[in-house]
Amino acid sequence: MIRVLWFAFKLAVLVALAYWLAERPGEVSIDWLGYRIETSVGILLAAIVLVAGLSALSYRIWRFLRRSPRSLGQSRQASRRKRGYKALTQGMVAVAAGEVDEAARQARRADSLLEEPPLTMLLSAQAAQLNGDEAAAKRYFSAMLEDPETRFLGLRGLLTQALRDGDEPQALDYVRQAHVLRPRTPWVLTSLFDLSERCGDLETAERALIEAAKIKVLPAPEAGRKRAVILLERAEAAARRGDRPAALAHAREANKLAPDLIPGAAMLAEQLIAGGQLRKAAKVLEKAWAAGPHPDLAALYLKTQTSGDDIERLKRLGLLTAKRPDHPESHLVLARAALKARLWGEARRHIKAAAGPEGLEHAPSDSVCRLMAELEEQENGDTAQARVWLTRSAGAPKDPAWVCTSCGAVSARWSARCGACKSFDSLAWQPPPRVAPALSHDDSDDRGSGRGDGGGGTEIDARFEADPALALPKA
Ligand SMILES: [Zn+2]
Repeated sequence: MIRVLWFAFKLAVLVALAYWLAERPGEVSIDWLGYRIETSVGILLAAIVLVAGLSALSYRIWRFLRRSPRSLGQSRQASRRKRGYKALTQGMVAVAAGEVDEAARQARRADSLLEEPPLTMLLSAQAAQLNGDEAAAKRYFSAMLEDPETRFLGLRGLLTQALRDGDEPQALDYVRQAHVLRPRTPWVLTSLFDLSERCGDLETAERALIEAAKIKVLPAPEAGRKRAVILLERAEAAARRGDRPAALAHAREANKLAPDLIPGAAMLAEQLIAGGQLRKAAKVLEKAWAAGPHPDLAALYLKTQTSGDDIERLKRLGLLTAKRPDHPESHLVLARAALKARLWGEARRHIKAAAGPEGLEHAPSDSVCRLMAELEEQENGDTAQARVWLTRSAGAPKDPAWVCTSCGAVSARWSARCGACKSFDSLAWQPPPRVAPALSHDDSDDRGSGRGDGGGGTEIDARFEADPALALPKA
C-alpha cells in the first residue's frame, strides 16, 4: 500500500514538473539531419523529463523479466537444500537413536539433495558404522581426509576405528596427524599422550603432557605426576641401554616432580649409588621413607654404606626408619635386621610393634607371622612353634603389594601401566584387596572354585593366584 502511494506521489510530482516546465516562456529551434523542430523551452524540458522517466520504468521492467527465471531456479535450489539439511538432521538423530535403516535412508537422501560431500560423508560413515559395515565407514572416513575441511573429522573417525581394532601404532599415526591440524584440542593432546606412552614414544608423551598443562587441559598437579611417571620410564629405558647420565637426569626430575613416587626415589638413589654419590642417595631415600616406607628403599639404603657388619647395618637402618619410627614397615625392616644380627630381644620387640596395637593375638600380617616363625626357630630351635606360625601366615592378611587401584590386580613389581587393565599410573603400594565369599554370580562362575565358602574374607582374589604373572610377592 505504501509503495503504491509512493509511486502515485512520484508520478504526480513528475507530471506537475512537466506541466510547470511546459508553461515556461522562451523559444527553441533545432536543426538536425535535415529536420527542423520549433517549440518552447518548457515543452522541450518537459519532453526530456518524460523520456527519462519512461526509460527508467522500462529498464526496471526489463530487469524483472530477465531475472525471474533465475530467481525461480534459486528458490527451487533453496528448497532442495532445506530438505537436504532436514534429511541430514534426521539422519543424525537416527544415528544417535541407533536406528540403522532410518540412518542409512536419510544419509542417502541427504547425499542426493545436498551437493556437499563434506557434510553428508560423516553421516554416511556413521550410518555405515551403525550397520556394522566398518569397511564402508573406513572408506568414507578416508575420503574425508581429501578435503581440508573434513580432514580432522575423518582422522577422528579413523582413530576411533583403529582403537577399537586395538591397532595402537596406527591410532598413534592418526592422532599425530590430528595434532598437526589442531594442536590445542584437548582430546587430541590426551590421546597423543596416552598412545605415545603405550607405543613407547616417551618423548612425545612427555611433550603432550607439557602442552596439555600449558593450555590447562590437565590440572598442573595431575600433569606433573604423570610426567614424573613418564620420566621414570625414560630413566628405566636409559638405564637399560647403559646411558647412566640420562637415567640420572630423568630420575632426578621425576623425583622432583613427585617426591612420593617410591619407584622414582628408588631409581634416583640407585643411579646416585652407581655414580658413587652415596650421601646424596641416602638423603633421597630418607626423604622417600618419610613420604612412604617401602622395603626397596631400605635395601638401597644399606648400599649407601660401604662396609659394616650386621650390627652396623641394623644401626644404619635405624637412621632411615627414624623418619617414620611408628610405621609397621619401619619395625619390619628393623626386625629383619635384628634377626640377622641375632639380637633376639630387639627382633621380638619390633615384630610385636609391627603387629600393631592389637598385638600378635589379633590377625597379625603375613610377614609378622613369618618373622615370628623365623625367630622361634633361630632363637629357641622350636620348630613346632615355627610351624604353627607358618600355618598362621597362610591365612593372615597379606602384606602390602603393588595393587592396581582401577582393577585390583596385584603385581610384584611396579610398572607405569597395570599389567591387567593397562591403566596408567594406577599401582599403589597397599594391602591387596580381600574378596568376600561369593559376592556375585560372576565370581563363582568364572573362577569355578567355590573357594569363597568359609574364607571369612581373608582370601586373596583367586585371579591373582591363578596367574603367575600377577602372583603376590613373597617377602
Ligand atoms: Zn589394573
